Amino acid sequence: MKLINIHTHNKQDNNFSIINLFPEELSLINVRKNYSLGIHPWEVSKVDVDEQLKIVERYSFSKNIIAIGEIGLDKLHQNFDLQKEVFLKQIAIARKSNKPIIIHCVKAFSDLLHILKSEIISVPIIIHRFSGNKTIADKLIKFGCYLSFGHELFNSKSKTQRVFKNINFKNIFFETDDANIKIEEVYKKASEIKLIKSEVLKQQISDNFQNVFKVKIY
Ligand SMILES: [Zn+2]
Repeated sequence: MKLINIHTHNKQDNNFSIINLFPEELSLINVRKNYSLGIHPWEVSKVDVDEQLKIVERYSFSKNIIAIGEIGLDKLHQNFDLQKEVFLKQIAIARKSNKPIIIHCVKAFSDLLHILKSEIISVPIIIHRFSGNKTIADKLIKFGCYLSFGHELFNSKSKTQRVFKNINFKNIFFETDDANIKIEEVYKKASEIKLIKSEVLKQQISDNFQNVFKVKIY
């Protein structure tokens, strides 16, 4: 069974991965692969937002773009109001093209929860590199969100490992993001923390993927 990597920036990745692209990276698209496309919250004040939104909207209907992302909110970066505006516009694009959303959220979970309460987001939501606590995890899961975990699982002192230990298998994914690790290592670590056989874990993640993307992975 293939290992699913829900979010990576490695354009050469050879697993079953969702490779993230920023609008200016579209030329790197390879027809055989699955991509997410979106304006990152760190970029909103550096790029021509209107132009990039047009690109995201146009390509959101492409069959190689299977998710809109990573998009979101980051309180550690500037221009939060603009981040929010661009985030909401990209949520609207995802709804229109009926594609799941991959979210980057750092120190902005109350704003994200507020958006989840006030907007009708009819597409599946994956929070990549989840960094919140158990209470936030529970609230997001109540909204049907999936939480994705990566290299933070290797830090036994991090709250991420504790949160991961205590959440339901039905709401998780794994990723390598921009870290120099293999997705195999993340799955191995995750099955050790959860005390389950790696085959069972792989099957569960494959089922989760099917629930979100409506594609069966063997
Ligand atoms: Zn990323």
